[in-house]
Amino acid sequence: MKDGESVVVAEGYIFEFERRGYLKAGSFVPEVVLDHPELVKSLHEEFVHAGSDVVLAFTVGIDNKHNYYGHREKLRLIGRENELERINMEALRIAREVADQTGTLMAGNLCNSTIFKEDSDADEIQQVKAMFKEQVEWAVKGHADFIVGETFSSFGEAMLCLETIKQYGNGLPAVITLQPVKTMYTVDNIPIGEAARKLEDAGADIVGLNCGRGPTTIVEVIKEVREKCKGPIACLPVTYRTTTEQPSFFSLTVPGTDVKAFPLNLMACQSTRYEIEEFAKEMKKLGVQYIGLCCGGTSNYLRIVADVYGKEFGAKKYAPEMHQHFMYGDKTKFPEYFTTEIHKKI
Ligand SMILES: [Zn+2]
Repeated sequence: MKDGESVVVAEGYIFEFERRGYLKAGSFVPEVVLDHPELVKSLHEEFVHAGSDVVLAFTVGIDNKHNYYGHREKLRLIGRENELERINMEALRIAREVADQTGTLMAGNLCNSTIFKEDSDADEIQQVKAMFKEQVEWAVKGHADFIVGETFSSFGEAMLCLETIKQYGNGLPAVITLQPVKTMYTVDNIPIGEAARKLEDAGADIVGLNCGRGPTTIVEVIKEVREKCKGPIACLPVTYRTTTEQPSFFSLTVPGTDVKAFPLNLMACQSTRYEIEEFAKEMKKLGVQYIGLCCGGTSNYLRIVADVYGKEFGAKKYAPEMHQHFMYGDKTKFPEYFTTEIHKKI
């Protein structure tokens, strides 16, 4: 990274498994790790094929990020509270295996605790720290190459996570990302750019943004991060068409209705491929070196990002070539009836 290298990082596991029918919306617990480990392995492989340089362990979270969906309270909801360690270690084992087989990096994963609040008392803070410590130790034991702490809307919690990684992470590099939502501030009222800078000063190897905002509305926030930080920065938006009025995917409504999109109807708000491409180009221009997609991210979208970043990977050969289409392709190659006439009727 110090030499200006970049890494492409696939996230979005939870939503992808929910879409495929192997994970329940609501509790969002990644039971698939224990119930169908072969599918988790396969999705890791698919994301590497689509250009990901990193295999992010699916250690309990909304996209293998939001670990909170796997902590004990959540597991209790579905009667699997005793399986937390097993889910985490199995997720790390699968990710390590794929990273070794594909020559990519493997990252352990922590995220917001869903316990930490702006006014958390000492007891709650201790509880969160204990949770982070446990997860950091598992990541070390599972031979992660680095540890990601992400989706923090609160600067205080992000800092607590970083401190825990520094303390128990056995020297592994730390990537810390904040989740930008409605405003340009963290929920504890620090301008996000400044919060990122403080995390960098406190020793995070990479800082930046993930989740929350889509590829268009995340841009103004990452620009602030770029302005404030000196080192490599990260940007992994959700892949939904957030707007100035509805800047985060939590506030999105289904187009043409008042129906809340999050989380069940987000597919009606998917970004276009062009928006993903524009986003990737802009990030490259800004010098974002840790780039990827979060919730809603799929292999065909990630391929666009990896391609813009000049990566070589398997799925590149399946990128669209619309000139080969019989109706919308090269007019000199197909009958005029299909390339022109039939358009009037369909
Ligand atoms: Zn996300």
